Amino acid sequence: MAATRLSGSDVVNALDAKPSVDEIWRWLEDVPDPEIPVVSVVELGIVRAVDWRGEDLVVTVTPTYSGCPATAVISLDIEEAIRRKGVDAVRVESRLSPAWTTDWITDAGREKLKAYGIAPPEGAACAGMLKAPAIVACPRCGSHDTAEVSRFGSTPCKASWRCNACLEPFDYFKSF
Ligand SMILES: [Zn+2]
Repeated sequence: MAATRLSGSDVVNALDAKPSVDEIWRWLEDVPDPEIPVVSVVELGIVRAVDWRGEDLVVTVTPTYSGCPATAVISLDIEEAIRRKGVDAVRVESRLSPAWTTDWITDAGREKLKAYGIAPPEGAACAGMLKAPAIVACPRCGSHDTAEVSRFGSTPCKASWRCNACLEPFDYFKSF
């Protein structure tokens, strides 16, 4: 007799137990950032906490910056991903302080940004200030001979840069 393969939500329902916080963190690792889908919301460092409050699951998120238009989409994506696993009582709360910094991007996240053609943020974060970095390495050829073309790239969180060595344009993820 062939065993029926249970999906994740079936398992949750069958066990009738709340999934652990660790398990929920693993689910969130599969939720892509809407602006840069190669990195997850966990790799981007915007998920700050996962807590059970009684029967409610609360995911605390710090947006990359308060004006980032993707924030609402991120909240919906997170809620939807968790509901798909069978947890309906989920809500996403925003925490604006301390402010997100590019330091919170994980090493794996930085590698993926680079592979995607986005220069990972350089140097220390500067809370609250959008600052142009002095040196940005080209994500394609690694040259430091690069220049900012526009302060605002394809999204407000990124700036447009161009490499003078390989002449390719690229996005730079702004440092905060
Ligand atoms: Zn280049």
